[in-house]
Amino acid sequence: MKSPSEKLIEDFKQHSWQVPNLYQRLFELFDEPNEIFSFCKQFLIEFEDSTTLFNDALSYVTKENFKDLILLAINTLKQSKNDNDNAAEVIAYASLQFPDLLHQHLDVLFKLKPNESSYYSEYPWRDLPFEKALILKDKFIAAKTKKHEKEKLFSCLLETRNLKIIEEVYSYTKENNFFQYINDEDLNGYLIACLENVGYTIKENKITRYCSKKVRHINFQTNYFLNKKPIHFKKHPTWYLNSENNSYNFGGAITNDENNPLTHIITLSTILKELGISDLTELTLGLHINEINEGYGNVYYKHNNLGKPQLIGDLHNIEDCIDLPIKPTTIKLAVTPERWKYQFWGSANSRENLFRIGGEPTWIQSAEVLTCPKCKEKMNFLLQLDTAVPDTNGDELYFGSGGICYAFWCDEDKISGYSMQWT
Ligand SMILES: [Zn+2]
Repeated sequence: MKSPSEKLIEDFKQHSWQVPNLYQRLFELFDEPNEIFSFCKQFLIEFEDSTTLFNDALSYVTKENFKDLILLAINTLKQSKNDNDNAAEVIAYASLQFPDLLHQHLDVLFKLKPNESSYYSEYPWRDLPFEKALILKDKFIAAKTKKHEKEKLFSCLLETRNLKIIEEVYSYTKENNFFQYINDEDLNGYLIACLENVGYTIKENKITRYCSKKVRHINFQTNYFLNKKPIHFKKHPTWYLNSENNSYNFGGAITNDENNPLTHIITLSTILKELGISDLTELTLGLHINEINEGYGNVYYKHNNLGKPQLIGDLHNIEDCIDLPIKPTTIKLAVTPERWKYQFWGSANSRENLFRIGGEPTWIQSAEVLTCPKCKEKMNFLLQLDTAVPDTNGDELYFGSGGICYAFWCDEDKISGYSMQWT
């Protein structure tokens, strides 16, 4: 008798997206690790072209099974001369969810170059242990290494996120501009942008982390979001992580100016240690969404000793398309398991929970860490809000065309700042 995964593959082969209840049938496999693994294995063997169906299924493959899937993907890439979308997707998703599983294959991946044209092509080098990174760094610095290879090694080494390695790579590159398309006068800015893509920036002339190692996801109450979404909506495991006990107030209005309200985001009634907030017992984060959505740029708030925000500068008068405050609720936080520490906006594909506190921001464009308007140093990352959170009028709030809003913090000056990115 054929298993449910075999039947699904067979039907998909015959009828493609016309299979009735296609996603429903895929979801039924999610609770059975063996079924989802054999679905992915078989899909990889039978189909080449990238599909969200396959990509979605990968989030449910266990780490143990992912090892085998990686081997199969690498063999497929070798045999197809690096021309198989789904095999490349396995490497891309593994590099986010289990980069350590790719570390033993880095030599072959360096040659095969899956996902080469994308900016996640060096993600497999994420979190590479120091000893292995050291060998790579020696190769990078060696005089005989060609410039284009140095460019690739530069990105790989940054992905390791090892501070000692990054410091050496940074100072070497400042002295030896090997980049084909970066002029000497643009080099400094480019290097800072590269650092910020991997969680570091330059602060007080030193390479420094601007975000915590620890990540938490925001867990929302059931039915908080508007229920007008496709079937894959809020199915991803990142919506169901184990909550901690504390509840936090989320949403509502701090001041309800008719045409430019200050929406309340969250009150951290317990200060999370890893965020680098000192001298406050509570921090209230709020934002005039209209300011960033109407293109007035980043906004900043000075916080008093109770942690309450006051806008720095003047409020604009908004006439059309006024964004209302976020619908009030209480939320809980969940410590993010290692698997979901890195999330990538593109591959999250509106499936994953991108409401995150701490950790590295899920950048949509290149990283851009805010600078404190007072001390002019780079700020620390606090949290991010994804689009489509409900507002007080029963609609959905969008950041730009459907982007992410990022909150930053300068602890010296007790200033918060907000920016957003979208496509
Ligand atoms: Zn400052």
